[in-house]
Amino acid sequence: MNTRVFRNLSYGVYAVSTLDGERNTGCIANSIMQITSSPATIAVSMNHDNYTNSCIAKTGKFAVSILSEDSDAALIGRFGFQSGKDVNKFDGIDFSIKEGLPVINDSCGYIVCKVIDKMETSTHTVFLGEVIDCDTIGSSPAMTYAYYHNVVKGKSPKNAPTYLPEEDSKPEKAATQWVCSICGYVYDGEIPFEELPDTYTCPICKQGKEKFTQK
Ligand code: FE
Repeated sequence: MNTRVFRNLSYGVYAVSTLDGERNTGCIANSIMQITSSPATIAVSMNHDNYTNSCIAKTGKFAVSILSEDSDAALIGRFGFQSGKDVNKFDGIDFSIKEGLPVINDSCGYIVCKVIDKMETSTHTVFLGEVIDCDTIGSSPAMTYAYYHNVVKGKSPKNAPTYLPEEDSKPEKAATQWVCSICGYVYDGEIPFEELPDTYTCPICKQGKEKFTQK
């Protein structure tokens, strides 16, 4: 099997949110698809290790914020590379409450669902949600996973369904690259990395310059 073929499937970049008791929480997902139109249902695949997974199972509801090409890439670091167990991911984020759940305003739309079924796989839960509210926000195009990978220069967290270990070792350029050890962002600015000020932070996960390693 050549699993690189999976890169030819299309994925988006979404923040899936729910409640942890009274507290807002969420994570990044890229495997979400519409299943039926009437009633409107969507399915989301989420790793068992994501704290959000158990919160959705308890709450019975989830919301999807569809990130756009213009969304702040730091949202991906906040929601994709930290655990909701440790931090309140919505602290300082511009969000609204829809049907009791938080949705991110810096996005191109949201969908709120109640869980009507789920399927377990060895690593992921597939939640089937019936849509109870949805709307578009602004006019920016949705961020595809390909855009995130090729333009934002981001990588998949290890618990994403689309994660491929080969991504880490694939040489993208002959020259040495500075790579964020937390989120996988590859620095490609005009200024040589060594000459960046000590205050430089990763545009995706906001970690400091010292978290970058040469590859
Ligand atoms: Fe980073």
